[in-house]
Amino acid sequence: MKKIAVLGSTGSIGTQTLEVVEQNGDLQVTALAAGANVDLMEQQIRKFRPALACMGDEKKAKELRDRVSDLDVKICAGMDGLLEVVTEPRSETLVTAIVGMIGIRPTIAAMEAGKDIALANKETLVTAGHIIMPLAREKKVRILPVDSEHSAIFQCLNGEDKRAVHKILLTASGGPFRGWSRERLAAVQVEDALKHPNWSMGRKITIDSSTMVNKGLEVMEARWLFGVEMEQVQVVVQPQSVIHSMVEFEDGAVMAQLGAPDMKLPIQYALYYPQRRYLPGERLDFTKLKSISFETPDREVFKGLDLAYQAGGRGGSLPTVYNAANEYAVAAFLERKISYPAIVEMIESAMEHHKVVERPGVEEILAAERETYEFLESRW
Ligand code: NDP
Repeated sequence: MKKIAVLGSTGSIGTQTLEVVEQNGDLQVTALAAGANVDLMEQQIRKFRPALACMGDEKKAKELRDRVSDLDVKICAGMDGLLEVVTEPRSETLVTAIVGMIGIRPTIAAMEAGKDIALANKETLVTAGHIIMPLAREKKVRILPVDSEHSAIFQCLNGEDKRAVHKILLTASGGPFRGWSRERLAAVQVEDALKHPNWSMGRKITIDSSTMVNKGLEVMEARWLFGVEMEQVQVVVQPQSVIHSMVEFEDGAVMAQLGAPDMKLPIQYALYYPQRRYLPGERLDFTKLKSISFETPDREVFKGLDLAYQAGGRGGSLPTVYNAANEYAVAAFLERKISYPAIVEMIESAMEHHKVVERPGVEEILAAERETYEFLESRW
């Protein structure tokens, strides 16, 4: 039985990971971590019987401890708890389904302990890719992408010589506001931005998809995962979300991965790689598929994508500022404190204000995050 630990088990990716565990029957969950959802964590503990579970803070951990006192499970809390979960001795693979830069330290600790990483938490690679990728080589651990686009690219590259990659074609649905003007976007409310046309996801990534900041983060994620330059990653809008991404090779051949939009496919592929397993659920029916269309993203209206190319191209601590400003702004938008266009305006002003640190270490990355928050707090 393969043993796994899951960070962010109560979220969108976390719960789908546990569905994959349930459907297969030969994966064992040794440790779980979540933020605040004690009810769901209790249910997960009763069903999957991990040895260890962690909550975001001690108050939630105590509540959970009282509820599962009849079971043999250790409950911990906070960053120390996350570090305990990711280094749980029996687990072989860590699924990083936590949201935000809080994933950096636990991911590094897991790699140092020799665990393979099934990576959903893109923020870690965006901000610390220059630390994560060499560490993976040094520790001989695998980084297996869970993001559907990156899983698609990973599948297209199976058995290929990575040096023969000419270009990565990263597909995007374009989100709910594809084709909209800047004026129209100014009136967008939280409810509008939380409606994604094709995917059901957590709140933060759904907002990121609507601004195309998610695509920007994915371009940076792809650059680290597949060892290419930013300019080699081209975003192509494919509104039906049928093609999950493509790779163009030196000889002009293009490989694509297609499928119904279901995150369980990339999750299962990462957990069993290189094996493929039966996956119940919707299948593509080409006789019913009316069309697959393509568009160029509008980088003027969706400036978040353009700023990502600037941040990734400059490198150093700038991608951290891009990401941190976005995390701050999205939280403020969800709390209805700022307007929709202010999300990207905040990212831009934080990037302009920042003095770039070259090759930042973890402490410097976290300092850049704090400084970005402080700047935005004082300015907005
Ligand atoms: P969700 O918001 O649905 O879930 C986030 C998870 O993180 C929850 O389990 C939450 O716990 C947990 N969490 C939050 N804060 C803490 C904390 N301090 N300590 C421990 N756990 C915490 O997010 P998603 O599942 O949508 O996304 C997770 C990651 O995967 C993101 O990086 C996202 O970009 C990426 N991703 C997501 C996709 C998707 O389809 N959803 C697709 C591709 C990538 P709780 O709810 O209990 O507070």
